[in-house]
Amino acid sequence: MSSLATYKSRRRATQLFSALFILVLPFFNILRLDIPTLRFFFFRSTLWIDEFYILFLVIMLVLWIIVIFSMLYGRVWCGWVCPQIVWTELHDGFERKMTRWLKIKPRAASRGARLLRLAAVLLFTAVLSLLVGFNLVAYFVDPYRMLAEIAAGQLGPITAACILAIALLVAADILFWRQKFCSRTCPYGMLQTVVTDSRTQIVRYQTERDGECIRCQACVRDCLMGIDIRTSPYQTECIHCGDCIDSCAAVLSRLKKPAAGLISFSWGENEVSRATWYRKLGLVDARRWVILAITVAYAAVLVGVIHARQPLGLTASGDRSTLYYLSPDKKVYNEYALTISNRSVAPGWFSLVCQGPAGHPEECTVQVDSNPVFLESREVKNMKMKIYSSGSQLHPGPNRLQLKAVNREDPEIQTQTEIVFFMPEPGAGNGLSGAMGTSR
Ligand code: SF4
Ligand code: SF4
Repeated sequence: MSSLATYKSRRRATQLFSALFILVLPFFNILRLDIPTLRFFFFRSTLWIDEFYILFLVIMLVLWIIVIFSMLYGRVWCGWVCPQIVWTELHDGFERKMTRWLKIKPRAASRGARLLRLAAVLLFTAVLSLLVGFNLVAYFVDPYRMLAEIAAGQLGPITAACILAIALLVAADILFWRQKFCSRTCPYGMLQTVVTDSRTQIVRYQTERDGECIRCQACVRDCLMGIDIRTSPYQTECIHCGDCIDSCAAVLSRLKKPAAGLISFSWGENEVSRATWYRKLGLVDARRWVILAITVAYAAVLVGVIHARQPLGLTASGDRSTLYYLSPDKKVYNEYALTISNRSVAPGWFSLVCQGPAGHPEECTVQVDSNPVFLESREVKNMKMKIYSSGSQLHPGPNRLQLKAVNREDPEIQTQTEIVFFMPEPGAGNGLSGAMGTSR
């Protein structure tokens, strides 16, 4: 394959893949913040908005990835992945196709053909903008629900207004701002100037071979951003798309020049060898290996934290104004304020079980208004709980017991917490009352 095919075709394939990926991402809950239910979906794990420490870790990881990617590859994101460039180029491609189909020539086109082309282009812009608007809102509102509401003509006014507002901005970008957005407004472009270093990948005109340049201007004509890369490889407009590399290589190959094109990707101005796989990836010095290791470690911690988080919350605090009570059948019990929360996406029944000291699991029993407890997804219940004990294996004073909540349908979903059970001295409590204990 010639180098002409290489960058253009690779870029188109990458753009297609990234556009599809961004389009379907919210449908599979890989990365989505659901505003109506205040849930955050991350690789199919469901986090609640109050689990901010995980959300914070996710944001930090994304920032680390952006920094390392930009440090290694410069603005390759812009030219190869960024949706704004994708939809701008898609629109340009459609315009060119319409011009060809309607056989419109620069000066000789009929008025009817030009109007037809304009109508088709505006219609395409509207459809594309609405699709982008829907896709962006789908990151915050369930896309399946939105589709069902659109099909039934019952899309909520706020959701519809959001989609329309985004679509209008996208249409304005496609029709007016276009590449001006990349060079003047985009915050990522500005970040780029901060994180790059002398070995960041750039697109470089090989000044040492300047004598071979035939001044054909093909590299300038084909540049999406309208710049001349020969003047400097550090122009902020350059989005590292590689189109000028293809153009120059095509021109020189037609002239049967022996060497490759005069423009190439390079690790800074003083390129080091790309002979090994890790150098090809841009891992050209120890500092980059360290940054990569930190990012991987960060990702590993995040995955560990997500897996370790409890889908159930359980706390029980003892009523210490009265340490213990005696029931009419002379059993000792303590009272607690219990809070149980279901953080999973499914409702369920949860059994509460008390476990005595090691070797004596039967030493205590739980009494609440209803056991098992039913909890809707995301529901939190506060209730009074009594723990009873026959006392045969517990010692006088505080005893440490385990309180467990177990999902009845899926016992894998469970959690436990330690509670302190106060046991009176043997023989105490017959008629004992007041701050220490009471009979009921
Ligand atoms: S100079 Fe080359 S790499 Fe940079 S934006 Fe223009 S065509 Fe793309
Ligand atoms: S395409 Fe190549 S030969 Fe033509 S002007 Fe650009 S650098 Fe020179």
